[in-house]
Amino acid sequence: MLLLSQDEVMRALPMADCIEAVDQALRALAREDVVLPVRTIVWLPDRRGLLGIMPGFLGVGSLLGVKAITVMPGNHGTPFDSHQGVVLLFEAEQGRLLSILDATAITTIRTAAASAVATRALARPETADLAILGTGVQAAAHLDAMRAVRAVRRVRVWSRNPSNARAFAARESARQGIEVTAAPTAREAVLDANLICTVTSASEPVLNGAWIAPGAHVNAVGACVPRCRELDTEAVRRARVYVDHQPAALAEAGDLLIPIAEGAVDAAHIVGEIGGVLTGAVPGRRDPKEITLFKSLGIAIEDLAAAGRAYATAAASGQGTSVLIGGERRASA
Ligand code: NDP
Repeated sequence: MLLLSQDEVMRALPMADCIEAVDQALRALAREDVVLPVRTIVWLPDRRGLLGIMPGFLGVGSLLGVKAITVMPGNHGTPFDSHQGVVLLFEAEQGRLLSILDATAITTIRTAAASAVATRALARPETADLAILGTGVQAAAHLDAMRAVRAVRRVRVWSRNPSNARAFAARESARQGIEVTAAPTAREAVLDANLICTVTSASEPVLNGAWIAPGAHVNAVGACVPRCRELDTEAVRRARVYVDHQPAALAEAGDLLIPIAEGAVDAAHIVGEIGGVLTGAVPGRRDPKEITLFKSLGIAIEDLAAAGRAYATAAASGQGTSVLIGGERRASA
């Protein structure tokens, strides 16, 4: 069994590799070559945070596994990531535990990779003007991921705390080698942008539909529980909506469930899953003026795909720590 730390996963899982792994996993979902229950959420009694248990089976590579992850939104600004845990990766022949991987790194990279897959499928090819709402871990990962699939030339970022936006802009301008500017308001960040990523821990809307330019593509990544949302009703109403996993969306996505409860749209407003767009089973963007929206919740098969890729790369290059954990049949004493 190979134990892979946060740094080792980061090294073993370049964004470009993860995008292809997640693309394959989402296609497998469309072909029903997965087993994917909706995750179990255990809230703390005061609802400060939660433990998510995310099991699944992915036919590609025949991977079985589970991610156990805590989500503590209050960790922003502390030394600790808001998502911490492990992915347990098993092979599905003998059921051997192959690897235990740091889930902070897996979650960071695979979430942005899923948005990249959706962007590649739905954003207009000439998309170059990116707005990011939020400045945490996902904001930086999404900048990497969007640049991997579109020739981004302009980046504006907004954060609730303006000093976070300024710090992010300075840090990412230096890291990326392109100009990232801090916008004073979310509205100014998204004005005329043709690619928008919402990556905040907000529970009330940070993106208003009235601000979104015709033809834009939106990746809505935060707000993964029914009572929270990052998008107002108008943003959802105006958009052609895609999700990662329809049962999860109808159970967890406040961005969609709240407008549905208001009667502004119904469940049929969800065009389909992004994996279906990739396989051709679900129609994608129809014209350059419509707004497309990918509502991401994060699903276990993305974690398995990312973990499988990281494990293979690490094992081939001798990274990680080998640990003997059970598994072999022992003669009875
Ligand atoms: P971080 O803790 O690193 O960053 C949180 C961000 O949210 C900061 O930019 C913070 O900015 C902002 N924020 C916090 N509260 C509010 C608020 N009330 N209104 C507006 N902005 C707020 O989190 P991550 O980057 O790791 O995650 C971002 C979001 O994405 C979370 O909701 C997380 O649960 C979700 N997520 C979704 C995944 C998926 O697969 N769909 C996977 C992983 C994460 P500031 O302090 O300046 O306000």
